[in-house]
Amino acid sequence: MRPGTPERPLRVAIIGSGPAAFYAADQILRQKELTAQVDMIERLPTPYGLVRGGVAPDHLKIKSVIAMYEKTAALPGFRFFGNVEYGKHLTLDELRAHFDAILFATGAPTDRRMGIPGEDLAGSHSATEFVAWYNGHPDFRTHSFDLTQERVAVVGAGNVAIDVARILCLGPDEFDETDMAHHACEALATSRIREVWILGRRGVVQSSFTTNEVRELGEMKHADIVVRPDDVALDDISHEELKASGRPAMQQKVDLMTGFASKPLENKPRKLHVRFLVSPVEVIDDGTGKVGGLKIVRNRLARNADGASVAESTGETEILPVGLVFRSVGYRGTALPGLPFDERKGTLPNEKGRVKETPGIYASGWIKRGPTGVIGNNKADSVETVNTLLADLAADALPSAAQPDASAFEALVRERQSKVVTYAGWQRLDAHELEKGKAVGRPRWKVTSVPEMLQAIDGE
Ligand code: NAP
Repeated sequence: MRPGTPERPLRVAIIGSGPAAFYAADQILRQKELTAQVDMIERLPTPYGLVRGGVAPDHLKIKSVIAMYEKTAALPGFRFFGNVEYGKHLTLDELRAHFDAILFATGAPTDRRMGIPGEDLAGSHSATEFVAWYNGHPDFRTHSFDLTQERVAVVGAGNVAIDVARILCLGPDEFDETDMAHHACEALATSRIREVWILGRRGVVQSSFTTNEVRELGEMKHADIVVRPDDVALDDISHEELKASGRPAMQQKVDLMTGFASKPLENKPRKLHVRFLVSPVEVIDDGTGKVGGLKIVRNRLARNADGASVAESTGETEILPVGLVFRSVGYRGTALPGLPFDERKGTLPNEKGRVKETPGIYASGWIKRGPTGVIGNNKADSVETVNTLLADLAADALPSAAQPDASAFEALVRERQSKVVTYAGWQRLDAHELEKGKAVGRPRWKVTSVPEMLQAIDGE
């Protein structure tokens, strides 16, 4: 009998609990004429992936998307298994025995590297590490950053670079409006950082910044935005690309940056410089194994064989006197045990979400398409994957689970991990964090260690 009936529900495991995972669960559980059960398996005790651990702590509005995920979690057939790790507590074969389909939405947990000398010196970090730290991710809570430095470079012209630079420029009087982890508030409150440079290797037109994020740079309370007029003067390639894009948002971004270039400084205590057409070539050792500067080279735009615009070195170098470097040149997916992996893209090789050569296995979100797009883009991405999955179900192409009993799977998980966190458990932790936040006049007080999370869940 084909699964999907009340007698024999379709059993789907979703690995990961970020936006792509929740949109996929929602799409499966809201199908008319299909009875399905979705078990969501998450390594951390907390759900929501980058909405909790990646979105900037001063962007609370973006996090309101969680209300949608809460509705999904309330749908019949949904279960959450937090604090359970794929590959550690459960193997692929075990999941195959219990589920008709397994959908991976594990995101892109690591970062790309710059590939330049000195990248591993003390004081040279990945933006992903810093973001996870200020957002209270348990794996990063004990990391430390030398905030006694006065100058910092953030390499990359994407929204993560903007987030990192903006957070470095916040003042302690602004922390109460954020859900930033307490350890980060304490460390940043005594920060001596005065100047931050965001470095884009191509021009403003080619930058990955989105308009809203650029606009916010002009609204910082404690930092002036500094842009050189020469850096935002468009060359022929940029003019062509701007015209060809036909996107008003692109023009707005250029206009905002051009506006910053002529904006008088307001003598705020910090300066955030945005530079274009420069690439880092070496992180300079100060003689003690720490960052003593960043050597950058000026670029011009050129076209490669495919006609795409690329940064071409002019050979003209300069040294930025920074003591801290964050590389923010993109996230990267990691290989998953038992599954194929596209090393070049850092993704599960797939066609419309169906992982190649592995029937019954699907992918959604960044592990499917690479680390691009904002939260909302994951909806269409997950809908596509679920449609592929449902087409395979209709074509009897899903390998049927040998043990489709939901209680048998729960028993297996509990045998492997005695501290499973259910959705109700997460809701207790959520309430605890909100209450503690309220008591100190903040939107949330994040619990940042797994034992403390488990204590808050059990202890209420
Ligand atoms: P991204 O948007 O892909 O930007 C990466 C940047 O790094 C690009 O400017 C890229 O330049 C540059 N880069 C790559 N390799 C480089 C190198 N070797 N040297 C110098 N520069 C290099 O990545 P992201 O900032 O990590 O963001 C990931 C995704 O999350 C994006 O889709 C972003 O929009 C999204 N996000 C959204 C928000 C928000 O909505 N508020 C906040 C954070 C993140 P090239 O273009 O020349 O390759």
